Amino acid sequence: MRHQEHKAASWGSDVPLRRVPATGVLQARWVFPVQGEPLPEGQVQLERGRVVAVGRGLTTRPLELGSVALLPGLVNAHCHLEFSLLQRPLGRPGMAFPRWIEQVVQWRRSREEPPAEVPSPWQAGLRESAAAGVAAVGEVLSAAAQRIPPAPWPQLVVFFELLGLTPERAEQAIARAEQFLQQAPAAGWLGWGLSPHAPYTVHPRLLAWAVGQSRRRHLPLQFHLAESPEELELLRTGDGPLAELLQELGAWCPEALPGRLRPLDFLQSLQKAHRVLVIHGNYLSAAEQQFLARGRKRFSLVYCPRTHAYFQHQPYPLAELLQQGVRVVLGTDSRASSPGLELLHEARCAAAQHQVAPAQLLRMITLDAARALGLDATWGRIAPGSQGVFTAVQLPPNQAPQKANEVLEAIFHGPAPGAELIACGPLPRQE
Ligand SMILES: [Zn+2]
Repeated sequence: MRHQEHKAASWGSDVPLRRVPATGVLQARWVFPVQGEPLPEGQVQLERGRVVAVGRGLTTRPLELGSVALLPGLVNAHCHLEFSLLQRPLGRPGMAFPRWIEQVVQWRRSREEPPAEVPSPWQAGLRESAAAGVAAVGEVLSAAAQRIPPAPWPQLVVFFELLGLTPERAEQAIARAEQFLQQAPAAGWLGWGLSPHAPYTVHPRLLAWAVGQSRRRHLPLQFHLAESPEELELLRTGDGPLAELLQELGAWCPEALPGRLRPLDFLQSLQKAHRVLVIHGNYLSAAEQQFLARGRKRFSLVYCPRTHAYFQHQPYPLAELLQQGVRVVLGTDSRASSPGLELLHEARCAAAQHQVAPAQLLRMITLDAARALGLDATWGRIAPGSQGVFTAVQLPPNQAPQKANEVLEAIFHGPAPGAELIACGPLPRQE
């Protein structure tokens, strides 16, 4: 497709994606509606940017997409785009989590006066996501960030990060977050929420404030929990390497973490929120896993397979979590702990390590991820009413699979396939 770049075009005009007419019929070798049976030589009818029908033989003159599997636009549930210009993760594989946090803090402090980089980390991260076929991102926005440019693609659900273990820092975080909440409706995002960061960086009062806002304004929350053994030690004893690090950083507050705490206490505090994405949960107890399963109307768990692998954590209990009924979805986390933002590679990493059905993996990066972010009315499936936003995954050229499950096997277990983001819109202007 020829791109006619327009000088006055806003940022985003160079994001790699394929535009298709907002009204018309697409045809692909396979269509995966996610809810509903996969269709060989499937067609998707669009009207004014929305899907109105999915089937076979809807028209004899479709726009042919070729030998691809057409999926709903992929949804990355958890990311920190501020790190997107890093060439490699901070630290080294298998390092202790507190040492990595120390590196993140140093990196952020070194950038308190960030150079005006072009592209900015956010632009680079969005472009990288789009090039990997990602249509929507749950982005945790650092309070230190300058404004993210409004990005047409991928679309964003922006979670404002709350950091403050001491009462003073908690108050400052609330003041900044109130400003964010005032400005967010005009930002052009798909949605927004708050991200009280983690048990060791958030004063109980700050967490309670976030839960209250979530409940009152129907906002989603993202909360990192049970990520490392050191975090559990800190909760249990009020001491250990994470406490020492926080003391060194001048961010320690013993009254906030007096010991005898468990992740379950935090899940119970979050229970009154409107919607919660628990990030990682690498070391949740059986009771905590059951709590998430029982609360699946409100709670989702975000697994970031390549970040998990980077820290060489204990094996992730994916099969057990799914079996219990926890809604587990996938995220990339950031380039500070993962080689990149390709969501499909996260699913392939999970497929390589766990016995999990390919159709389940597909839901974890589409419909279930959309549910986790509260987007599932129009995202995550290809069905009448859903957005005309798709991810086309290239199928092996000469030996196109004959059955739907073979297609998914090829995508998750075969050689890494290319993926393209497809969105409705006017065709590029010809000049
Ligand atoms: Zn994270």
